[in-house]
Amino acid sequence: MYIFLDIDGVLVKEDLPGAEINEDLMKFDEECLNTFESVIRRYENSKIVISSSWIEIFALETIKTLFSSEVAEKIMGATPRLNQPLKYFRYHEVLDYLKQNEAEPWVAIDDIAEHFPPDAPVIVTNPYIGFDKNAADKLEYFLANGELPE
Ligand SMILES: [Mg+2]
Repeated sequence: MYIFLDIDGVLVKEDLPGAEINEDLMKFDEECLNTFESVIRRYENSKIVISSSWIEIFALETIKTLFSSEVAEKIMGATPRLNQPLKYFRYHEVLDYLKQNEAEPWVAIDDIAEHFPPDAPVIVTNPYIGFDKNAADKLEYFLANGELPE
C-alpha cells in the first residue's frame, strides 16, 4: 500500500510565528519521525513515496538518509513534479505516479488539505504539530484495512 508522504508540516514542524528560525534545514523532528516510523515498521506492506517540494532541492538518496535504514528501504521513489500550477496539484502528482506503477490502495499525508479534492484519502496534519498520535492511528487503520476510517 502506498503512502504519499509530504515532509514540511508532517515530519518538519512549521515554526510558530515569532519563534526562532530553525537554521538546520535538513532535519526532521525527532518525535514526528519516531511516531511515523513506529507505524511503518509494523506493516510489511507499506511503500512510501515522497510527495514534497524537498525533491526539488535534495536528491532522493539524500532524503532517505534522514530515515532509519529499515524505513528508508520502503521508500520507493518520489512523485513526478507538475510544471504548471494546477488545482489539487499534489493529487495529480499522485495520480501520475500511480499511472506509472502498479495500482494499490493509497493514502496521502499532508498538512494542506486543499492540495487534494475533498474525497481523496488524505491524513491531514497540523503544520505546527506535524505527524502525531492522531495521524498515526489513522495511518495504522489504513495499513490494516486498506482504507481510512469514516
Ligand atoms: Mg507540507
